[in-house]
Amino acid sequence: MQALGTTLTASDEAISMAAEYLRDGRLVAFPTETVYGLGADARNDDAVARIFAAKDRPSFNPLIVHIADLAGAETLGAFNNLARSLAERFWPGPLSLVLPRLPGSGLSLLVSAGLDTVALRVPAHPLAQDLLARFGGPIAAPSANRAGEVSPTTAAHVADSLGDAPDLILDGGECTVGLESTVIDLCGARPAILRHGAVTREQLEKILGPIEDASVPDADQKPRSPGQIAKHYAPSIPLRIDVSDIRPNEAFVAFGEPPKGDATIVRNLSPSGDVVEAAARLFATLRELDRPEYAGIAVAPVPETGIGRAINDRLRRAAAAHKD
Ligand code: AMP
Ligand code: MG
Repeated sequence: MQALGTTLTASDEAISMAAEYLRDGRLVAFPTETVYGLGADARNDDAVARIFAAKDRPSFNPLIVHIADLAGAETLGAFNNLARSLAERFWPGPLSLVLPRLPGSGLSLLVSAGLDTVALRVPAHPLAQDLLARFGGPIAAPSANRAGEVSPTTAAHVADSLGDAPDLILDGGECTVGLESTVIDLCGARPAILRHGAVTREQLEKILGPIEDASVPDADQKPRSPGQIAKHYAPSIPLRIDVSDIRPNEAFVAFGEPPKGDATIVRNLSPSGDVVEAAARLFATLRELDRPEYAGIAVAPVPETGIGRAINDRLRRAAAAHKD
């Protein structure tokens, strides 16, 4: 099978080939339940460096390391009881834990971008699980898009964004969650959410008690997570949020109720007003509407509950990208 720079429908053979590619230090894009990741052997400096180059990602922004199970994760990061409880409750699943990095982890220093911590996740997607099991080690995998762009939720999005930079793209269909993982930092005195995502704050607080929201740093405060820069996840045309008045030639993104009056084009994230469905559709919708013939993208209000908080977080960042 010849596959350099190509997309392959996931099959037994394709997954074996992907594991072999990773062992050879090559880049493999693969689906997880959140978004597609651009994977490399997390112990191989050259391979990890290639991720930064392919994404044009600032080298101070660390990568999430994916691993098959909790036992594997415990060889990479220092788990305390809280970390273990979270892992037992939410793994495999869309939660990344930032923990002190173990000295003998064998991880490339680049994955932590100079920090003495590491973000770890056990993904639930069966294809990601299969790949991790066959590879047998940690896979560093940020979202498979160029830095600053909206994350990919299909194999075609990956190819559009990264061209032939991945040596192989495993096509496993659409991602079911459609938003990035929740990132929680367990290294400080109190647990802090660094990025809202599919596991909600309410779910985490059931185990942790009240947690700090460090997802949006104060203006005068240094970001706790290098990925917190406001400009992120942005389409190339302007985006407005909480909109009820559509402007001429704007593409409209509805939630629940369809808009009253005329709009050039309307897409509805969830006609029934379901935030989980809306999350799964968000990035594909933004990509579809990100076209120069529209004056911009106008998005209806989305409730700030559950995964709605993560949706609004991404939308605020996309809106902020055009403010200066
Ligand atoms: P992505 O790789 O695109 O899914 O983004 C990963 C997110 O996790 C970024 O916002 C990173 O800044 C954040 N992250 C990864 N590792 C760490 C770490 N060790 N400490 C704090 N944030 C991290
Ligand atoms: Mg990303």
